[in-house]
Amino acid sequence: PHAKISGGVSNVSFSFRGNEPVREAIHSVFLYHAIQNGMSMGIVNAGQLAVYDDLPAELKERVEDVILNRREDGTDRMLEIAEKYRGDGSVKEEETQEWRNLPVRERLTHALVKGVNTFVVEDTEEARHQFARPIEVIEGPLMDGMNVVGDLFGSGKMFLPQVVKSARVMKQAVAYLLPFIEAEKDGKSETQGKILMATVKGDVHDIGKNIVGVVLQCNNFEVIDLGVMVPAEKILKVAKEENVDIIGLSGLITPSLDEMVHVAREMQRLNFHLPLMIGGATTSKAHNAVKIEPQYKNDIAVYVADASRAVGVAQKLVNPQAKLDFIAELREEYETVRVRNANRKQKALLPYETAISKGYQGDWINYQPPAPLKPGIHVFSDFDLADLVNYIDWTPFFFSWELAGKFPRILEDEVVGEAATNLFKDAQAMLKRIVDEKLFNARAVVGIWPAQRRGADDLVVFNEDGSEEIAILHHLRQQTDKPNAQPNYSLADFVAPEGTKQDYIGGFVVTSGIEAEELAKSYDKTHDDYNSIMIKALADRLAEAFAERMHEIVRKEIWGYAADEKLSNEELIKETYKGIRPAPGYPACPDHTEKATLFRLLNAEQHTGVNLTENFAMYPTASVSGWYFSHPEAKYFGLGKIDKDQVTSIAERKGMELDTMERWLSPNLSYDR
Ligand code: SAH
Repeated sequence: PHAKISGGVSNVSFSFRGNEPVREAIHSVFLYHAIQNGMSMGIVNAGQLAVYDDLPAELKERVEDVILNRREDGTDRMLEIAEKYRGDGSVKEEETQEWRNLPVRERLTHALVKGVNTFVVEDTEEARHQFARPIEVIEGPLMDGMNVVGDLFGSGKMFLPQVVKSARVMKQAVAYLLPFIEAEKDGKSETQGKILMATVKGDVHDIGKNIVGVVLQCNNFEVIDLGVMVPAEKILKVAKEENVDIIGLSGLITPSLDEMVHVAREMQRLNFHLPLMIGGATTSKAHNAVKIEPQYKNDIAVYVADASRAVGVAQKLVNPQAKLDFIAELREEYETVRVRNANRKQKALLPYETAISKGYQGDWINYQPPAPLKPGIHVFSDFDLADLVNYIDWTPFFFSWELAGKFPRILEDEVVGEAATNLFKDAQAMLKRIVDEKLFNARAVVGIWPAQRRGADDLVVFNEDGSEEIAILHHLRQQTDKPNAQPNYSLADFVAPEGTKQDYIGGFVVTSGIEAEELAKSYDKTHDDYNSIMIKALADRLAEAFAERMHEIVRKEIWGYAADEKLSNEELIKETYKGIRPAPGYPACPDHTEKATLFRLLNAEQHTGVNLTENFAMYPTASVSGWYFSHPEAKYFGLGKIDKDQVTSIAERKGMELDTMERWLSPNLSYDR
């Protein structure tokens, strides 16, 4: 912020995008003083004006410091408090609340349990004067409050969004106290232990990891978060330097499973002796038992199913006595899982050739594949966010906050209803900001090309006039022996074979933009995990909504085969329309490496800014990609396990070493490689 009032002319420029209370205060202070200074006309946005006399004293003072240029550090002091006034004006409301009259100790505990961060700095400052040493504020009222939160969360009376809000109060208080503690130079408070957290190399997803980090910090663990795409060497180096007690690994895409095995192997090889916690969407107890834990015998690799369990696990792992029993118990449990896994009668697999002969047979004589109205590539940038809001599927949003239930019923749920409702309210407010202020630049590229099936499982893609082959897509076919003449599906079955009819295939990449990553970082800086996680969760929702919306535009206008389709949001979420948009890495097409072809065909990086990591995760994370199939019978299926004959075939067709192909397909292999 910067202001100048002189000789009746003034000028003020500032940027508090999205912080309406502060913007209003600035307008109001500015106008007030402009008039005081004899300016005859002030140009301000009257709709954005707060009543000068009603401004909170602290806010007024700091805004005036800036506007009147009263002190050197005015800007910094203004920024320092700006965040706390952000929101729906709830500051004023809460000021009058009863609990403000409690002794400061109880106020801090109240703020923690309720997750109110409005007064955290002033209350912490007040408390600091009441204790002999700043550290005692943490060990006293703050820890008391966090213990209450921990107990309520542990007993299922409090839910993740509330815990993350409480953690925000804790972190902001601690951040305020830290300089005073450091000035004392007598070290830090005793924590339960030090935990290093990282999303593994090749993966960029971190909502889950961040949530686990917050929950652990709430329980007095020190968390060192290395972020995303962290190579094994770095994880192990920092673990050693920082002398951590536990390493926690996270990952969302399937290739991350192998990367975790690699880290475990490295820990064994380099003689580490500390426990490993494994978590993230594609991890499982079975995978941990079969693939990771056997690699690491020095200590233990534990699978942690969700954030609410992380604390219990970590506590056992840092307590020497409890740890011995826990490890013994886990080893036995994982052995049972391994035995069960080995004994499970694997469903018989058909030879690849037989599976091909039992594939889905389209009627390529009578069926006429629709030709696209607008073939080729189409780019959309700065897509209207308001248009996406109605396409949001909210159920997965609650799931990402570990609230289970279907939207909108979840809002009324007996157990989680209140938490869900509050979370939804906060989400709506932030979503409104995102839309109103166009905080995200949603970008998409879609394309439809002539295509034919070649051989059993490949699709040849041609340029627009069909004169040139521009890509070959490699698909995989179910090999399980199925009853009742059910077909052995491959996505290739849904495109007309060469020599029959002219057919087409489409592809898309959409993203709600890179901006969410930066916004989240700015929240991280103010120790605001709640809003940081919120912005990412909403960015994901908008990306999925964008994928839904683009698919609709493609069906109706670009490919145009469903011009008069009319479906409600609910019907769209159920995907009742004609055609599918399978995503590479998902069950019908689990080979992530095909994304390279998709991105090349669409020139997606240039058009959308989305790029791929070495393991084919998309960055920014709030991105979705896939193929479009128009065939009315096209459907999603799970590939299931496949045999070496098919893996050999696809490796050959893709020109990839068998070993490399096996690594990419490892979750689907029916055999040990
Ligand atoms: N409405 C959901 C959509 C995501 S899940 C949301 O907002 O989160 C559904 C998508 O996952 C599908 O559109 C498809 O792209 C992908 N998908 C689901 N099952 C699949 C399968 N078996 N194979 C390939 N892709 C699949």
